[in-house]
Amino acid sequence: MQRVFIASGISEARLVQQMLEAAGVSVRLFNDHAAGGLGELPATETWPEVWVERQHQLAYAHSLIRDYEHASDETVDCKGCTESNPVTFEICWNCQEPLPVVN
Ligand SMILES: [Zn+2]
Repeated sequence: MQRVFIASGISEARLVQQMLEAAGVSVRLFNDHAAGGLGELPATETWPEVWVERQHQLAYAHSLIRDYEHASDETVDCKGCTESNPVTFEICWNCQEPLPVVN
């Protein structure tokens, strides 16, 4: 397995996880329960991490994440739960509600 993304928070980690899984990439989340257990660890140790399980999907995962990072300034708000989603998403990462189409 290889780490492909360090998220600034659990919602971003979940978002990237969902994006990759929607594209058929098998991923694992680590440190996804970090919020309550910071303790003595440096903050960076507890940031959620997204890891790709299969080596051959690594390059694909990297390119999806690059796209995500470029598109992340543009978001669309879900009508179901009001979470913001990247414009590239077709359904809400949080509640699976279909998102408005933005062109
Ligand atoms: Zn939603």
